[in-house]
Amino acid sequence: MQSKVGKCPKCGKAVVDRGSFYGCAGFVKGCDFSIGKSSLSHLGHPTITPKEMRALLKDSAQLSFRMSSGVERLYWVELVQKDGKYLAQVDFEAGVAAKSLGSCPVCGVDVVEYPLSFGCSRWEEGCEFAIFKDAIKRFGGKALTKKQAKELLQKGQIEVKIRGFDKKMKKVNLLLDSEFGCRVDFKNR
Ligand SMILES: [Zn+2]
Ligand SMILES: [Zn+2]
Repeated sequence: MQSKVGKCPKCGKAVVDRGSFYGCAGFVKGCDFSIGKSSLSHLGHPTITPKEMRALLKDSAQLSFRMSSGVERLYWVELVQKDGKYLAQVDFEAGVAAKSLGSCPVCGVDVVEYPLSFGCSRWEEGCEFAIFKDAIKRFGGKALTKKQAKELLQKGQIEVKIRGFDKKMKKVNLLLDSEFGCRVDFKNR
């Protein structure tokens, strides 16, 4: 059984998951509606999932795209008809929303995830605020996660584990720092 993902905008029959694409069940009767799962991959969205396709068949939907800079952004996508053919069209003009982790303590705009850091989305315009993922690695700590970065931006400090001078892991506070992104608070313990 192929799973249905919605209604064909062209003929009203079911649109089903056919592996590499979503196609109309009415194709035997001449309906050529189909959307390739990887049709947005060249723009940074590798696969249109069944859940996303379901949303697109109902209305426009926000899908995430990985930019060449490594930043993930959400853009509105809708199915549009061009020369009788349907295709998934991305609106790069409107509805741009980076997956925000919080506000930049320096300039106030969204902090988003980059390959090596959680940084200000305005870095191209010169804001250098960034929490590097391996900020506590030299202290024997683990790479910071998205969740930790979010919490750090919200609360201004989080508890992390680093290796002490006695080689034992210990908990320390990691403070948000507008100049260095974050810094370990050694005074507190
Ligand atoms: Zn159809
Ligand atoms: Zn900033």
